[in-house]
Amino acid sequence: MGGIVRHDWQVSEVEALFALPFADLMFQAQSTHRAHHSPNAVQMSTLLSIKTGACPEDCAYCPQSVRYDTGLERERLVPLDEVRKSAQAAKDAGATRFCMGAAWRSPKKKDVDAVVAMIREVRALGMETCATLGMLTPAQAHELKDAGLDYYNHNVDTSPEFYGEIITTRTYQDRLDTLSAVRDAGLNVCCGGIVGMGETTRDRASMLATLANLPQHPESVPINQLVRVPGTPLAGQKDVDPFDFVRTIAVARIVMPKAFVRLSAGREVMSDELQSLCFLAGANSIFYGEKLLTTGNPDVARDRALLTRLGIEPFTPPGLAAVADAHAHEEPHVHGPGCSHAHAPARPGAACNATRQR
Ligand code: SF4
Repeated sequence: MGGIVRHDWQVSEVEALFALPFADLMFQAQSTHRAHHSPNAVQMSTLLSIKTGACPEDCAYCPQSVRYDTGLERERLVPLDEVRKSAQAAKDAGATRFCMGAAWRSPKKKDVDAVVAMIREVRALGMETCATLGMLTPAQAHELKDAGLDYYNHNVDTSPEFYGEIITTRTYQDRLDTLSAVRDAGLNVCCGGIVGMGETTRDRASMLATLANLPQHPESVPINQLVRVPGTPLAGQKDVDPFDFVRTIAVARIVMPKAFVRLSAGREVMSDELQSLCFLAGANSIFYGEKLLTTGNPDVARDRALLTRLGIEPFTPPGLAAVADAHAHEEPHVHGPGCSHAHAPARPGAACNATRQR
């Protein structure tokens, strides 16, 4: 057990993990977690929607699709200066990674040029950068990498078998092709999925087996709980059993031992106790800030209080540690245990929102 990295998971094996008694699953997940990660550190990303709404795709969960009447106002590309200010605010609040999401099927040349400029601005602040812009060609992936992009997010969303129930405007293979282009360009991969869209446990197992059997595991694996947005086809989905959600986190931790498993969309409606169980199951990353792409997120003060109560400290990526040390007592940051600094809560990115469950 103890966290062996494998790429040959059978779906039936992953399903068997889901079927373990809860305590056994949690023990295995926690053991795996401790073999590869600091048990009391959580990485924090902030997400900004740089271009909201009017997306031509038909992802059944997404309020940004032009096909669904969700009342979402479409917005033009956010100006560079606003991106810089949002990133600075996110950094001041304690985030180490700034993610920029745009509601595109795939970016055009002018879009990539604009995002390249944004990446350079955010990089100059000493933050990691992530983007989620839709499907990419290999050349676009290289261009973004050359600009200093660290991570690219592109979720598989669900299992290959269930996928057609959720999206018809791009194929599962399209997604895998983008992931391959991103990896080949030398970018870190952020890729996960959504729980609560009507999928079975086998679908959840199949999705995680798909991710775990990629040639290299994604560095970040966001696990989202469906946010049921009125007007979308999935608005009437049933509640997810909280223990089933925790099980999904735990199994993701076991099959991708080194990945940062991100507790993503849906956190706003989770109790502190449920979030704590997710951390215990191996989640070690969150979106931090009051909004995700277009849905809510717990406010910064609540997150700070919860992390302090649990004795969890913000994870600083090794490449950013020197910068963080230099500013340790100058910059506002998230409170760790014993920290007595008082900082005004920042509002990273007013237009920013939850996980683009791309
Ligand atoms: S998830 Fe992304 S690709 Fe799908 S409709 Fe929403 S913005 Fe478009």
